[in-house]
Amino acid sequence: MRFCAAAVVVLVTCACVSAQTPSAPPAAQAPAFDSNRAFAHLKQLVEIGPRPAGSPGIQKTREYIKQGLSAVGLTPKEQTFDAKTPIGTVPMVNISATIPGPGTGRLIFAGHYDTKLFEEFRFVGANDAGSSTAFLLELARVLKDRKNAVTIEILFLDGEEAFGEWETGNTFGSRHYVDAAKTDGTLKDIKAMILVDMIGDKALGFKRESRSTPWLTDAIWAAARELKRPEFLAESTPIDDDHLPFLAAGVPATDIIDLEYPDASSRYWHSAEDTLENVSAQSLQVVGDVLLAALPTIELRIR
Ligand SMILES: [Zn+2]
Repeated sequence: MRFCAAAVVVLVTCACVSAQTPSAPPAAQAPAFDSNRAFAHLKQLVEIGPRPAGSPGIQKTREYIKQGLSAVGLTPKEQTFDAKTPIGTVPMVNISATIPGPGTGRLIFAGHYDTKLFEEFRFVGANDAGSSTAFLLELARVLKDRKNAVTIEILFLDGEEAFGEWETGNTFGSRHYVDAAKTDGTLKDIKAMILVDMIGDKALGFKRESRSTPWLTDAIWAAARELKRPEFLAESTPIDDDHLPFLAAGVPATDIIDLEYPDASSRYWHSAEDTLENVSAQSLQVVGDVLLAALPTIELRIR
């Protein structure tokens, strides 16, 4: 993903956020999100090494994701496609698992699992995209045993990263997924999409992604406030990411992303320093706790 070129910072008051959020029903009992499990996944992913789309590394990552989903009793499904990229045609695969719930609509939790291709240094992407991949695997375990009010899909997207400059092509997996849903007539069943990306930064701070669907972002920020999590900030900023194809297709979507590192230089982003030492299990725990706390409000809205 990238900062939007026309990035502006808008201050949003907490009172405004609170007023727009419907009150949640009592939370359905769910197993707790276990960041130790998530972090164990993250370590395994980093050990695979670079995982760019079309590489042997991402093939190993796919096997790891599918094994992880199967291990918690879910059935992984692959959506294969060929992406036309600046380096030629690259075979890509989105992976999903569905946790059946009442009704025909579904809620998607998504993240990308490819890492950006760099020739000049070894990029292992602990945060980008190890954190989202590891997080979704643990979330799948939790939601599988939760009494969900809607069907939930856990979606691992390929090809978020550009080959070179962002403008030359990006978000291949999410664009293909939305196009396929339009073609097969199932787009209307997607009631909302929550994207996680770069959620493992040690000094976590999420701004509201400014083009995301307000009620969905509000529900998550309200849960964060309830849990007294200061990591969910009042400021907003536009970031190009995998939620945009969903928004463009009319699907409510939001992006939980921390693209800024504390020294404001974003020095770990797309650098050789995006390593295990610079990510934190606690950050994954915060996001897990907040999203699970927000879930009843979101379910109430879309069921
Ligand atoms: Zn990236």
